Amino acid sequence: MAKIKDLSFGVCFAGSIALNIFFVTNNLFGIYENKQLSWSQRAGAEAEAVAAVSCSGHGRAYLDGLVVDGKPVCECNTCYEGPHCSHFLPDCAADADSGDPLFLEPFWMQNAESSALLVAGWHRMSYVFGDQSSMSQELQKHILKVHSIARNAITKGKYLVFGVGSTQLLSAAVFALSLNSSSPARVVAESPYYPVYKTQTDFFETVHFEFKGDALLIKNTSDSAGNVIEFVTSPNNPDGNLRKAVLQGVSVNAIYDHAYYWPHFSAIPAPADEDIMIFTISKLTGHAGSRFGWALVKDKDVYLNMQKYISLAEFSISRDTQLRALQLLKVVLKGDGREIFHFAYEKMRDRWEKISQTVSLSKHFTVQDIPPQYCNFFEKVRGPSPAYIWLKCEREEDTNCSAVLLAANIIGRSGSLFDAEDRYVRLSLLKSDDDFNLLLYRLKELVSKEGGADTL
Ligand code: PMP
Repeated sequence: MAKIKDLSFGVCFAGSIALNIFFVTNNLFGIYENKQLSWSQRAGAEAEAVAAVSCSGHGRAYLDGLVVDGKPVCECNTCYEGPHCSHFLPDCAADADSGDPLFLEPFWMQNAESSALLVAGWHRMSYVFGDQSSMSQELQKHILKVHSIARNAITKGKYLVFGVGSTQLLSAAVFALSLNSSSPARVVAESPYYPVYKTQTDFFETVHFEFKGDALLIKNTSDSAGNVIEFVTSPNNPDGNLRKAVLQGVSVNAIYDHAYYWPHFSAIPAPADEDIMIFTISKLTGHAGSRFGWALVKDKDVYLNMQKYISLAEFSISRDTQLRALQLLKVVLKGDGREIFHFAYEKMRDRWEKISQTVSLSKHFTVQDIPPQYCNFFEKVRGPSPAYIWLKCEREEDTNCSAVLLAANIIGRSGSLFDAEDRYVRLSLLKSDDDFNLLLYRLKELVSKEGGADTL
């Protein structure tokens, strides 16, 4: 009897192992062999398998990333390396140069389920939507709803234009405003300003417009002839301050770049109601790589000319991009539609407070002053949470502040790029947690080495 029991136990045990091996291999490799899975299950399983690759929290594997030996490879954050991004490079510089908005990545990890998309091979292959338009009506509705929740823009009576990021819309607006100019319209911005206004205007220069630098220089001259186009960045990149146009008059048109006019980065004193207002998903949801922006335009002719620019440059904005933007905005609007604003504000405020406290202990450096203001979204007075630190080297001899920082292993963007003195440097607070933590660490190190400075 005992022998029969042993034998049946052995058979059961072997059978269960065989079944387990069958299920495990089927699950892992079935994904790639496309066994008994529907198209959506296969796509879902592939996405899950890539998401499950462990990169130690310091990197990520992507569906379109490198594949080695049939397996997706980790793409490591700056200063991390190794097959699982687990190796920190101790001498690596803190890179605070770019405005890559990865600070929102944890929000999208928390919302992985609701933000994921599945796109069939046959999805929207046509140049146009069913109604012959090239702008998703659902996406338009969602954009208007997001503005009504953030309370940052009056959308009523405005036309909507989609662009490949706000970068393209900035250019489209310059073309539209200067199309009928007999002499070149002067394009200006108050210094310090976002460098792309100059580089883009110079590169695409036509007989209708040219870049003329600091708006204050024009204000202070008596030359008021001809059209003027002023870029107004509010909140400003690099210093985070809310701005108004410095030039006024019948021949002056302002393009309001509101990339950062979200509760993440600034108080919203009132909904903006300008003639041309440009927004971008890059700084709202953090999806800079999706290249999607929109403009709200009051004047019909300006709107039609901006549309014409987009239509000639692109025909229209990618259906895939519009679908992605729609899915992301659905998540933004989930529940009472306020979660992302709270998440982003708290993260940015925390980063600002840590850096500004560190710099306040220094005798060599200062940061910009951003006064607390009433916020229409939070319905109370709130403090700063800017996207960038506009750091100033105070010592007379430190005329090249980015060189001073580089010597301390910190990479920033020099003031002269923003038409300001090189005594200033822009440091990005938008990047990943890894980038921010290293920046904070290196700044603490730098300040603590100052002779006579308070200890940290
Ligand atoms: N305007 C400002 C002030 C910016 O800082 C940026 C991006 N850094 C842009 C526009 C461009 O954004 P997008 O990714 O939408 O082209």
